[in-house]
Amino acid sequence: MAIIAFIGLGHMGQPMSAHLVAAGHTVRGVDLDASATQAAAARGVQIVPTIAAALDGADAAITSLPKPEHVRGVYGRPDGIFAHAASSTLLLDTSTVDVETSQWCHREAEARQLSFVDAPISGGTTGAEAHTLTFMLGGRPGDVDRAREVVGPMAGNVIACGAAGAGIAAKLVNNMMLFINVLAVSEGSQLAEQLGLDAHVFWDVARVSSGDSWALRTWYPVPGVVDKAAANNNFDATFSVDLARKDCGLAVQAGDETGVQLPAARLALTQLDTLVAEGLGAKDCTLVARFASPDGTLRGYDPARDAAASH
Ligand code: NAD
Repeated sequence: MAIIAFIGLGHMGQPMSAHLVAAGHTVRGVDLDASATQAAAARGVQIVPTIAAALDGADAAITSLPKPEHVRGVYGRPDGIFAHAASSTLLLDTSTVDVETSQWCHREAEARQLSFVDAPISGGTTGAEAHTLTFMLGGRPGDVDRAREVVGPMAGNVIACGAAGAGIAAKLVNNMMLFINVLAVSEGSQLAEQLGLDAHVFWDVARVSSGDSWALRTWYPVPGVVDKAAANNNFDATFSVDLARKDCGLAVQAGDETGVQLPAARLALTQLDTLVAEGLGAKDCTLVARFASPDGTLRGYDPARDAAASH
């Protein structure tokens, strides 16, 4: 059994690290947020105060961090991963970052003779809990083979996408398609409501028809239809507007860099930007359904409950 350092015990990191514990590994966790470390500790993760302590003798180190700047900081700072990793420690970043940040991780690792694999994930918090995530791996073939073993207890699918950065490229394209699908489900759900359809009946139809998508099955933005959907919980985040905005922005940036036209992704990005500007970045990204509603209100979303919770 292996020793695995796990940095970032949030929505994704917490269930992922718990599956590694359940598989019999020793998992040493680090997070800045006390509620995240407490929840991870309750699931068997040994909480340690520093990255150095987490990496001491570790076979692998996994990061699950919000944004590119967090990844660059955690890997690159003087008390970070690159400063403390041994050449035998396999480094895996499961965060969604831009291609350049991932390439930077690969370059910096190679300069120190360390092994790094970009290992972004898809499947959301439900996939993380159910250990059915899809892992998209990019890096040297030998490192990717080792990574396949490490991620096994968290994964439903593990796909070697190619050389350094190929995993993250696949992830950005996938998520761009997800947020375009979220727009389709947003508009579809609201039109179905206004046409007088029972939400569950319509969902049953679309689920087995050509309107089906992962977003429909997992994130339908109407309460009482899909068990784990944010709509059941006042649109508290399972996948936050901030993270969705980040992913969509990274895809649009990749479109700009490659000359690919992305009008639908730009529309999704505009809606996510609007929610951020309204101070709703911490809510769930499926709150974009509000933009399809005739009067801007959304069944299942009561802004007064947010205001009450913040007092
Ligand atoms: P999250 O914000 O819930 O968790 C990130 C954790 O990292 C937080 O607990 C935060 O305190 C911690 N953190 C930040 N800076 C740190 C530092 N310097 N040292 C230690 N810990 C630090 O985010 P999440 O939803 O778990 O997502 C993590 C990553 O996975 C993101 O890049 C996201 O885009 C990606 N992702 C998320 C989902 C999803 O459905 N939530 C799905 C696929 C991929």
